[in-house]
Order: sequence, then structure tokens, then C-alpha cells
Amino acid sequence: MPFQFDNSYARLPSEFYSLVAPTSVTEPSMIRVNRELAELLGADVGALQSPAGLSVLAGNQICAGSIPLAMAYAGHQFGGFSPQLGDGRAVLLGEVIGTDGVRYDIQLKGSGPTQFSRRGDGRSALGPVLREYIVSEAMAALGVPTTRALAAVATGEDVLREGMIAGGILTRVAQSFVRVGTFQWFAARGDVENLKVLADYVIERHYPEAKESETPYRVLLDSVIERQAVLVAHWMQLGFIHGVMNTDNTAVSGETIDYGPCAFMDTYESNKTFSSIDHQGRYGFGNQGPIAHWNLARFAETLVPLLASDADRGVAIAEEALDRFVGMYERELQRRFKAKIGLGFEADEVNTAEDPDWELVRDLLTLMEDGKADFTLVFRHLSKVLESNSDEKVLALFDCTKEIVAWLQAWRARMAEMDGGAAVALMHRSNPIFIPRNHRIEEVIEAGYSGDFELFHQLCEVLQDPFDEQPKNAAYEAAPTDDEIVPATFCGT
Ligand code: AMP
Ligand code: MG
Repeated sequence: MPFQFDNSYARLPSEFYSLVAPTSVTEPSMIRVNRELAELLGADVGALQSPAGLSVLAGNQICAGSIPLAMAYAGHQFGGFSPQLGDGRAVLLGEVIGTDGVRYDIQLKGSGPTQFSRRGDGRSALGPVLREYIVSEAMAALGVPTTRALAAVATGEDVLREGMIAGGILTRVAQSFVRVGTFQWFAARGDVENLKVLADYVIERHYPEAKESETPYRVLLDSVIERQAVLVAHWMQLGFIHGVMNTDNTAVSGETIDYGPCAFMDTYESNKTFSSIDHQGRYGFGNQGPIAHWNLARFAETLVPLLASDADRGVAIAEEALDRFVGMYERELQRRFKAKIGLGFEADEVNTAEDPDWELVRDLLTLMEDGKADFTLVFRHLSKVLESNSDEKVLALFDCTKEIVAWLQAWRARMAEMDGGAAVALMHRSNPIFIPRNHRIEEVIEAGYSGDFELFHQLCEVLQDPFDEQPKNAAYEAAPTDDEIVPATFCGT
């Protein structure tokens, strides 16, 4: 028995889920088990890697204590509301208490149809499984709150997408899979009683400090807003584009969830969009803060009946809470980007356009966009300017150099006022060397479809340690060459 389950979600009223077992597959095989995460979950790694463990992770066997279920949720997708989404290709196996005392959900993704599958097959192709495994674990190593990947399994069965391709199952782990869309599920049905049960459940699980307050639901709203502001600013710091920021893909725990057509950008573009279905750039890089705000407004709307007995008063409280998002997000964004160029953030308030340090950041980003410079490499090489007093590596990243020479001069003058050692250390902590670059992910996926997972394992290993030099893996630092560039990413569901 690999897990010690304790299933609090299954104890909630039946309106919260539909009980459903995973559907068996004929010939599963193990691709990778995440040893470190298994240990955190108190699971026996050997047991997970055994044939019995594979049976559980492939959905062929339900282990003792598991109460498999599909969670109900609704959601706004690209701005349009769907009252019924839900786990259409995922099944929650149950919850365990980790060795850190935190309760975790363990879910199979791609394990067969549920009541919420609509026209979908409930399955996942192998490519998206490998992609989510790589990117979610990279995010964890980068320090970003995120769902984790415990295991990847090949099902031995094909799924029909553009053609027949190999299927896979990802075992995902989250502090919970409750989404903004879960609240919308009950709000859309006018079910205030269960909405309150859900809010109390989320408070108990994620924001227990709210219980001490006389206005617990206001504290819940404030806390979710704050975690989302910090989360999205963290994505921005790293050049991460989620790609499908629908309200059903927004976890109330503040973890990054549902890695679909997500990507880290190579050359900097202020509203870079990869997703092949995001024609208007709604979920482009620079829109992520405003979209998070929009999603939080949808969350706040669901809470109105709990915020006050009078609806107008409830709306006023919700608006007041939401209004704080912009300042919070801006402050967090500025702090993180200033750190990227070695500047601490001394001011408490968000400075207006006159803040010269923020001006420096903005000027650099403009030059990067104009000069088609690689986002990750520019910031990483900037610290080398301080360390070796040579501009060469930075200049080589820009199409045109005259303006960046002037920028470097201004930046150097500002840095002269700082403690150089502390600035370099701050930059090293703020600017990764290794990110899961699209062309590397594509390479892994292509090999994976031919049954070769060597590159997958290798990429996973490299991304475990993103902030430190790895001389033997230096090739993974590189931006794609022109013919390696991946212009678009797909949901692949
Ligand atoms: P996502 O694109 O992961 O945010 O999914 C949006 C909705 O579509 C969710 O309700 C999913 O469960 C559902 N869905 C996505 N792919 C499939 C599939 N292959 N089979 C059934 N439902 C799916
Ligand atoms: Mg989703």
C-alpha cells in the first residue's frame, strides 16, 4: 500500500464530486517516479516502482484507503462561462498528510472518462504528460508554488488526437485541486449552503488563520488575492506564460495549476503568446497580471453572499478587496524585476513612473524587445558584467548594440552605489540559468513517442538545480537556434 490516505474531500456533500474509478489500461509501463516527492508524501518509493505501484499509478488497481472521485467545477474559459466543466480526464485518488504536515491531493490525469468528460475520451497523450512533468517540477525547483509531478506512466494504448498517438497518465500532487471554478460551480447553481461548506473547507485547509477573524470570508478573499498576486509576479520574473488562465485553471491555494500550452519565453516580447488557440493574446505574457485580477473578480463574485447579509454591502466589500490587487501586484512585480538587475527594493509604496530604478528595468525591457534578446540569458549575463567587468556576453544577445551600451553605462553608475557582492548574490537568486526551454521539451516529447526517455530523464535532472552552473550541462543554457525555435504550443488534450 504506497499511500496512507485520509480523504477529507470525499467526506464533503455529494454535490462536490462524482465517485468514479479510473479505467484500466492493457499494458502500462513506468517512465519516471519522483523519489524526492514520494518521500515528502511519506510513500515508499520501492513500493511505487514495483508492479503493484505501477498498477495504482496506471489506474489498474485501487489501493486500500483510496476513494477515487472526479471533482465538480465550472469556469470561465477565454471569458465565456461554462457552468459544467469538472474533472473530465482526472481522478482524485485521495489525500495524504506529507512529512511536512501539509495535506496533499493525489490525482491521476489521463485515467479515463468521468461524468464530466462530455465528448472527451478522459485520456491524455504522452506528450502533454511529459511536458507537465518537466515544467511543473522545474517550477518547483525554481521556487514557484505549483502542483507537482509524482509519476509518469505510458499506458501502452493509443489515443486519437490528430492521429493515433501513445497515451500516458500523470500522477499530480497539489495542496488541493480546488479552483476558482469550484466556487463558481455552486454560485452558478445558487447553492449558497454548499458554497459556505466549500469556503469553510478551503479556510480549514489553506487559510486557517481566517478562522480567528470576525470576517473569515473577507480574510479568505484577501488571502487568495494576495497569493495570486505574488504567484503571477513570480511567473513574470521567470518569463513564464501559463497560456490558459481560465478560472477553472486558477487554484485557490495559490499554486500554479494545469500546465497546458504553457511556455517559458526565449526572446523577450512584452505580450508573448505561445498557445495556438489564444488568437487575441488574452493570456499573453504581459496580460497575466490583469487576467489574474479579472479571475479574482469572478472569485469575489461567488463570495458575495458570504461577505455580508446585504448584497450591496457584499459587493462593496468584494470591490474593496479587489482594488488592492493592482498595488500588490505592481509592488511584487517591481520588487522582483529590480532584484533581477541587482537592486534591492527599499520603498514600501509602489513608486510612480519617476522611480529611477524602475525606469532602468523598463528601459532594459524595451531594449530587449527591440533587440530580440533572450530573456533568461540577458539577466543571467548581467551579473557577469559585474563579476568580470566585461559587457561582451550581454551585448552579443542584442540585435543592435548602441542603446544597450548606453543602458549598461547608466546601470553601472547606479550599481556603483551598491554593495557589489550582495548585488551579484541577489541577481543569482533571481535569475535562473536553466529553464525548460520549448525546443528542449519538444525534443524530449519526440524521443518519448519513439519510446526513448533518456532525454526526458536528463532534462528533469538538469532542471532540478536551475540557479547553479552545471558545466557538463552547459548546452541546456542555450537559446534555440533559428531552426529550433518553437513558435506555438498546443493543449494536446
Ligand atoms: P483544461 O484544458 O485542462 O483546462 O480542461 C478544460 C476542461 O476540459 C476540463 O473540464 C477537463 O476535464 C476537460 N477535458 C480536457 N481534456 C479532456 C479529455 N481528453 N477528456 C475529457 N475531458 C477533457
Ligand atoms: Mg483545467
